[in-house]
Amino acid sequence: MLGNIGNERYATPYCQCWNKRSPISWEQLITSCTCGEEIDVSEWKWEQPQVDEVSCVVISDDKKQVTFHPSYSSGTAAVRGDTPLLQNYHYYWEVKMLTATYGTDIMVGLGSDKVSVTQSQFEFTSMLGQDTESYGLSYTGAVRHAAAVAREAAGFCRGTIIGVRLDLWQGTLEFYVNRKPQGVSFYNLRRHGVLYPIVCSTAAQSSMRLIYAASWRASLLVDAGRALAASARAAAGRVPPGLRRRLRLQFWLMLPHRDCVLEEDEDTAMEEEAVQLQSSLGDFFPNQYLNGFYVDSVERDYRVVVWE
Ligand SMILES: [Zn+2]
Repeated sequence: MLGNIGNERYATPYCQCWNKRSPISWEQLITSCTCGEEIDVSEWKWEQPQVDEVSCVVISDDKKQVTFHPSYSSGTAAVRGDTPLLQNYHYYWEVKMLTATYGTDIMVGLGSDKVSVTQSQFEFTSMLGQDTESYGLSYTGAVRHAAAVAREAAGFCRGTIIGVRLDLWQGTLEFYVNRKPQGVSFYNLRRHGVLYPIVCSTAAQSSMRLIYAASWRASLLVDAGRALAASARAAAGRVPPGLRRRLRLQFWLMLPHRDCVLEEDEDTAMEEEAVQLQSSLGDFFPNQYLNGFYVDSVERDYRVVVWE
């Protein structure tokens, strides 16, 4: 547990439930902290490992909670999502770290279909980002890809919510820590045919829970939603109740992103406004407009939206 001291300045829990330093066994975690999990959206879950992998990963009955190396660790265990991530969709998912972070690495990220979850099972390594087929945020704060550290972000510890914002329309990847943006790390993810969410760990009895997984097909509506959120943020409190309720389910669209310059002292105000703005656009725009898609074979600036 001492391995994390160097990043304690950055790695913080999302809520106050995790102040006690005493260890929790992964079997006790089912009923502990649910802060930040008020919205129950899970479009995909973790994939049950093959029979021969069972010894290093335990997945809960609801397939949201993963425990790596339930007895002892002999390498890097990983699981991936049960659903491929598709081109031209926006994705956002969140994982909550449930146990103390220590050891070689614990990572949240994604990889192509060329990544095998068992490829590093007998070696202690930062599996995500060890080659060009995967991307990962380490608990140390390192954002890894192609066997290199691409960026330093905030790290994570027990109780931190790690968000992954994947835009498969523009091909960008950005990590969030406790819903604060860490900056776009990568821009060329459309080159992968298929991508899957992946988490991995070398730490014995380490555990994470998928607390949110949503997507939205890319359309002008998503861009409009962001613009609307930005202007509504200026007029906080004037969002119609119906809109607020719906935007709540897709709250990630309202999270600050790289276009927003987030000043240190604006953090709290921004978060309060974000809470007020939790909602979706479905009440605002008729449903048939939610299915527009971009025609993708032209330069980005000239792409158009076709309504199905
Ligand atoms: Zn809590």
